[in-house]
Amino acid sequence: MATKQQIVLVTGGSGLVGQAIRMIVEQQQQESSSNNKYQFIFVSTKDGDLSILNEARQIFEKYRPNYVIHLAAMVGGLFRNLKYNLEFLRTNLAINDNVLLLAKEFHVQKCISCLSTCIFPDKTTYPIDETMIHLGPPHQSNFGYSYAKRMIDILNHAYSDHFKNNSNDYVVDGSNQLPIFTSIIPTNVYGPYDNFNLEDSHVIPGLIYKAYNAVQDAKLKNSNTAKLLVFGSGQPRRQFIYSLDLARLILWTMENYNEIEPIILSVDESDELSIGEAAKLVAETFERSYPDIRMEIQFDTNYSDGQFKKTASNLKLRRYLPGFQFTSMSDGIRDTIRWFITNYDVARK
Ligand code: NAP
Ligand code: GDP
Repeated sequence: MATKQQIVLVTGGSGLVGQAIRMIVEQQQQESSSNNKYQFIFVSTKDGDLSILNEARQIFEKYRPNYVIHLAAMVGGLFRNLKYNLEFLRTNLAINDNVLLLAKEFHVQKCISCLSTCIFPDKTTYPIDETMIHLGPPHQSNFGYSYAKRMIDILNHAYSDHFKNNSNDYVVDGSNQLPIFTSIIPTNVYGPYDNFNLEDSHVIPGLIYKAYNAVQDAKLKNSNTAKLLVFGSGQPRRQFIYSLDLARLILWTMENYNEIEPIILSVDESDELSIGEAAKLVAETFERSYPDIRMEIQFDTNYSDGQFKKTASNLKLRRYLPGFQFTSMSDGIRDTIRWFITNYDVARK
């Protein structure tokens, strides 16, 4: 007799990370039919606004998930965060409170929510690790987003206490397993389906769109130089993870990671780059596609640099998965640019 499929509800399913999970799930299902153990449901605002409890409840009632991968959030780069701290705080607090409450009410087996390395204390020692989330105020530029995300970790602990104190209500079919509410902490993500909008986006999609526009402009003017404008000094440093690598790690987390404490999902510390180096990779990739054009990188220091760095340790991840191979930044950027150009008409921008 075929075993019943486990329902995995992915909130934020239309976004950068949600779409990467969909791509990897489809790939794995083509490779092996054993992966049909799960039925993945990807939801977005089209299915309901998760910041409104009734709308969120309707989604849970419809799908009755066994697992929740909770990605939905108001998300944006430095410049969107600087403008809308209040909205980031209130919207994300509401979304997270609703989703976790419903995961409890619907007896979800595991709920994995998404934090970010930008929520760590601004004044800190490096590298940052999972124990340091609450050890001081976040960077002022994104305090709204950061405090809303930090509360997920607090909620996970509060729900876990509740499950322990009421274990008779939660242990399913004689198994000893209580529900697990946990979180992952990705570093800066980039890849297909990102938001390329110049005002809202993170740095990699922003640079790709600016480079694309500069090349089109140069072609129109029959010029062989295209200017890539980088906001800020180019000195800040970031660890970037390709969305498809992150998707693989999230699926691993769903099946294998049973701690309440968060886990940082990041490339190695040695893979950290300056924004200037990342811009150079974007520029070089465009130059390879348009050999007649030379990209000229310019820095505009009138723009904020934001947090200088947030170097995170992936030691915990490496203890679980010592051999995990991350996509190189040059391959990831090449594939993201290809995706952007091929899907130009539908890309968010
Ligand atoms: P994204 O591309 O902006 O996608 C956001 C997703 O959330 C979309 O599916 C969106 O639906 C949904 N959403 C937003 N508000 C909603 C609401 N009120 N109700 C229901 N759904 C809502 O974001 P992402 O980059 O994939 O981020 C996914 C998660 O990773 C987030 O929790 C984010 O904080 C975290 N993260 C991201 C990064 C990064 O660099 N991008 C780094 C670290 C952590 P619509 O498409 O319908 O609007
Ligand atoms: P953060 O990692 O949360 O600070 O977010 P971002 O990805 O938005 O920004 C990272 C860094 O890239 C900051 O130092 C920005 O000043 C710099 N940067 C350079 N050009 C751009 C751009 O076009 N868009 C964005 N968002 N940041 C840029």
